[in-house]
Amino acid sequence: MEVAVVGGGPVGMWVAKQIAEAGFETTVLEEDRKIGRPVRCAGLVSPRVVSKTDTDSTIMKASKAIIHPPQGDPLVLEAPEEKAYVIDRGRFDREMAEKASNAGAHIELDAKVLDTVFSSRRKLRYQQDGKEKQILSDLVIGADGPHSIMRKMTSMPGPKELLVGVQAIVAEDVKDISIFLGNDVSPDFFGYELPHTSGSLVGVGSSDGHAYEHLKRLIKRRGFENDILGYSAGTIPLGRMKESVRDGLMLVGDASCQVKPLSGGGLYPGLHSADICAEVAISALEDNDTSKERLQEYHDRWQSDIGSEISKGMWMRRIFKNMSDEDLSKILGSLKDEKVKRVVEIVGDIDYPSTLAKPVLKASPKLIKFAGPMIKNIF
Ligand SMILES: Cc1cc2nc3c(=O)[nH]c(=O)nc-3n(C[C@H](O)[C@H](O)[C@H](O)COP(=O)(O)OP(=O)(O)OC[C@H]3O[C@@H](n4cnc5c(N)ncnc54)[C@H](O)[C@@H]3O)c2cc1C
Repeated sequence: MEVAVVGGGPVGMWVAKQIAEAGFETTVLEEDRKIGRPVRCAGLVSPRVVSKTDTDSTIMKASKAIIHPPQGDPLVLEAPEEKAYVIDRGRFDREMAEKASNAGAHIELDAKVLDTVFSSRRKLRYQQDGKEKQILSDLVIGADGPHSIMRKMTSMPGPKELLVGVQAIVAEDVKDISIFLGNDVSPDFFGYELPHTSGSLVGVGSSDGHAYEHLKRLIKRRGFENDILGYSAGTIPLGRMKESVRDGLMLVGDASCQVKPLSGGGLYPGLHSADICAEVAISALEDNDTSKERLQEYHDRWQSDIGSEISKGMWMRRIFKNMSDEDLSKILGSLKDEKVKRVVEIVGDIDYPSTLAKPVLKASPKLIKFAGPMIKNIF
């Protein structure tokens, strides 16, 4: 049985590694000429990502985060243990590719997949070295990112929202992870600053088509105008996908919008779903049945965990988008209360932010007025 993985990002490589380890002929088709370039990621992940992948790409471990409200003093959160890691994303991607290759997967670079058709097996047409080629496989894993051609070719619904993330590498060193909130930073997302391999990264996300202008304003506010070493930008797909399988096809990672709506982080939900994807794929291949009905188990399993957290995240995002700068500043002001702050520091989990809603509202019931009736969708 043969498997083709479209997209050599971390999620595609993580699935490829596991399927190749199970003994199936696995080929990864990646359109870029180099793995891990360009980097379109800040590299902020939970300890779960680092322990799952056993990566050596860690730049820093953090238990502290500084949140800058639209008005007033920053809120400094210090958790009792490390809650976030900053990784070198380029190195991380290369490590994932090495793991897939060591497990026996063939990696084809400069191989852009053009389309797919299904009739008893899945055919992929791709372009490499200026030539058109094709590959037949029993199962295709579509791990081809936010603009997934596999998703479009098989008419699966796409993201509900697309955000643009733009970031700059600046020569100035920063010690901490900082988050910047408010309309002046981004009308519907946030800005960030964190340590990087060389200097630091400053970034902004937004869906209003002006992410670059927002970033330039943040860079000016931080006084980094003359320290810029380079820019990068990418798309962040948001929303819960209702479908992720077809006959001989499974979508995973950004291709399946497995992204946290509040932070735009896709590495944990993508890699976690990749484990489920690989497990179901291997058992379906062993049974010689890669029909949509057989693969549906993957969809149902990731939906009940990651999918449910995405739905809650979308509701929290709606509440966040409806908030004025004044409300946002008041909420962050309330979190300075030692009792409430402690709850955030102890319970806060960057992969499952919805778990914080109940304990915070219990510690500070007056905050419920800011959430309004939508709050019931988060519990
Ligand atoms: C600015 C920015 C900052 C971010 N910061 C974070 C962060 O701090 N933490 C976090 O967890 N997440 C972050 N994310 C999200 C994270 O980068 C993604 O969720 C993650 O890359 C998803 O991995 P993936 O393998 O599914 O997709 P990708 O990394 O997008 O990989 C898809 C691969 O498919 C290839 N491909 C696409 N089409 C084809 C084709 N037709 N043929 C062949 N190959 C193809 C692409 O070249 C690419 O290599 C950020 C995103 C952006 C844009």
